[in-house]
Amino acid sequence: MSTTVERIHCLIIGSGPAGYTAAIYAARAGLKPIMYTGLLQGGQLVNTTDVENYPGYPTGILGPEMMEDFKKQAERFGTDIRFGMATKVDFSTSPKKVWIDDEKLVEADAVILATGAEAKWLGIPSEKRLNGSGVSACAVCDGFFYKGTEVAIVGAGDTACEEAIYLSKLCTKVHMIVRRDEMRASKIMQERVLNTKNIQVYWNSETDEVLGENVVEAVRIFNNKTKEKIDVPVTGFFVAIGHQPNSVVFKDFITTDTEGYVITQADSTKTNVEGVFACGDLQDKTYRQAVTAAGTGCMAALESERWLSEKGIH
Ligand code: NDP
Repeated sequence: MSTTVERIHCLIIGSGPAGYTAAIYAARAGLKPIMYTGLLQGGQLVNTTDVENYPGYPTGILGPEMMEDFKKQAERFGTDIRFGMATKVDFSTSPKKVWIDDEKLVEADAVILATGAEAKWLGIPSEKRLNGSGVSACAVCDGFFYKGTEVAIVGAGDTACEEAIYLSKLCTKVHMIVRRDEMRASKIMQERVLNTKNIQVYWNSETDEVLGENVVEAVRIFNNKTKEKIDVPVTGFFVAIGHQPNSVVFKDFITTDTEGYVITQADSTKTNVEGVFACGDLQDKTYRQAVTAAGTGCMAALESERWLSEKGIH
């Protein structure tokens, strides 16, 4: 099968707040951007319920609705939005080469990387074996299946707290497994968890194994202070221990830190490759907010536009 080749000025990879904001600015600057969305169209926010901290929505908005708004705004100015994954790149050439779904080749002068981050897993065998059969990394996607039952959740950040609260509204009890004697989450989220009657927090606790032959039946919790192990019957097991950046496809060309976050120049979205810009959670392990992702998406588009002008390409 021969590969089709398309030659463009500006390619955006990823469709979270960073990618869509880059698209809005790039389209308005006349760069005729093409966006490939990745598998999760709209990014991590499509797996969220209420977003209450994005400015401009005084009464909050649902994550998927907000991303639909972002998409419409990007389309309104002419962004060509397509479903597809960047599966291989070659950033050693000019124009840069990006293969989509191992089939199509896009040659672009400027490339904006906005592929975000994805959920981390504990790495225990039972978690993998029962994934999709009671083990999940997204309470909002899968919580409904466990309505009226008891579930467990691992983690102590804002995500874990948010998901525990969400689950507490559907489930009879939420067992929250926290590995230290304190939580990393913001004070307000911790208080919400601790004030929710049907959430039980297990401090200094780790997951030994998820139990069950074909579906989750219980979780074995290990207290790392007392060394005691207990089996708690649950039907669902949720992992909410953070995220890792989606940078593997670019790693041969783009400099990342040890965790895989793309390194950008100070006060800029410029990567180590001229004409390749990175924005959003892919390069931000500090703030990781929709609004900061959108901010860096805007920067990436403005810097692309400037770079293309300097090169006389635009
Ligand atoms: P975080 O990195 O903030 O937290 C991860 C949590 O998981 C930590 O409590 C960590 O424990 C725990 N953890 C990590 N690895 C393991 C493991 N192997 N076993 C058990 N526990 C583990 O990730 P989040 O996804 O919670 O949040 C990411 C960012 O997004 C944060 O900046 C957060 O504030 C933000 N956010 C904001 C929201 C909002 O404002 N509405 C909602 C959701 C997220 P330990 O503390 O011991 O390291």
